[in-house]
Amino acid sequence: MVGPHPEFIPPARPIIGEAEIEAAVRVLRSGRVVQGPEVAAFEEEFGDLVAGRHCVAVNSGTSALQLTLMALGFGPGDEVIVPSFSFAASANAVRLVGAEPVFVDIEPGSFCVDPQAVAAAVTPRTVAIMPVHLYGHPAAMDQIMAIAERHGLAVVEDAAQAHGATLNGTPVGAFGTAGCFSFYPTKNMHALEGGMVTTADAELARTLRLLRNQGMEQRYANEIVGANMRMTDVAAAIGRVQLTQLAEWTEQRRSNAKFLDSKITGMVTPPVADAAKHVYHQYTVRVQGNRDAAMARLTELGIGNAVYYPTPIHRLKPYLDADGKPGPWDLPETERAAAEVVSLPVHPSLSPADLERIAEGANLAGGAR
Ligand SMILES: *Cc1c(COP(=O)(O)O)cnc(C)c1O
Repeated sequence: MVGPHPEFIPPARPIIGEAEIEAAVRVLRSGRVVQGPEVAAFEEEFGDLVAGRHCVAVNSGTSALQLTLMALGFGPGDEVIVPSFSFAASANAVRLVGAEPVFVDIEPGSFCVDPQAVAAAVTPRTVAIMPVHLYGHPAAMDQIMAIAERHGLAVVEDAAQAHGATLNGTPVGAFGTAGCFSFYPTKNMHALEGGMVTTADAELARTLRLLRNQGMEQRYANEIVGANMRMTDVAAAIGRVQLTQLAEWTEQRRSNAKFLDSKITGMVTPPVADAAKHVYHQYTVRVQGNRDAAMARLTELGIGNAVYYPTPIHRLKPYLDADGKPGPWDLPETERAAAEVVSLPVHPSLSPADLERIAEGANLAGGAR
């Protein structure tokens, strides 16, 4: 390759428009900058996306997961069932509270956790299931909730990639004991950094509010030991602007995906489960030939591409056992996905010409040797 392509299509493009900038400046001039009126308004407005659940804003998606596990009282000796095919944050949150992730395999179509594998992984130590709505596709929540009810387990949805996704019309974040969202810049909507916990349980919401702020409701009258995971009002103001755009951006992502589905023949396009509304945080295909060659060809053609995630969590260093080997996990679909997938640009800033180039490029790259 001679150099970067002159019209490179980036794999993601965080949006920071004039409205976001104005909102941030307005807050900075107001002097109310941390966990103030913008945070309260953002929590209220986000409720519309999750069927009116209580919403508790925090400083990141990882904090949302960690705080939820803390609030539910989980820690050493407890097991949380989680897919290995996810971003490390899913399992890190479990380890950060001292509990142990138990890794389970995924369904090959949705890339989300396989309910049969979840059922088989329940032990007397299991306290929770953490399904991940990977790439914006909702996990099989009906079956997961049934397993949780049968065994009396909590369900913590990792919805970091799935703002607005639904299954049978119910939004993610409204199925489980709690839902956890991220507002990192590349997510479907952002707040620079930020996260949100959603729950129907008012008592849990109160505990989350205490824990994110040193265990205080009244200043200096600390009730429990808590952390500082507060969201700033600058972040909340940006998040509020983004939230007003989310529906439009989601429709754009979905129509971009529909176009790519109809044009790409050289790679396996992402299937969508019946009753699922996919919000395409990523548009992830499987390469049947040589993936490295296909990715090199895409890059040569100026088409951004990336693998989420090349190493399943159970093979990452912190999750290896004492002799540096992966634990006794049997995760064939996870291993296969990690070896085959590549994500193509699907973000709402793509032009019709970009989409044509992505589809043509994928068809050329699919046959690369
Ligand atoms: C982004 C992400 C997180 C963590 O969110 P942050 O805001 O980056 O802390 C957790 N889980 C998944 C699946 C994610 O994609």
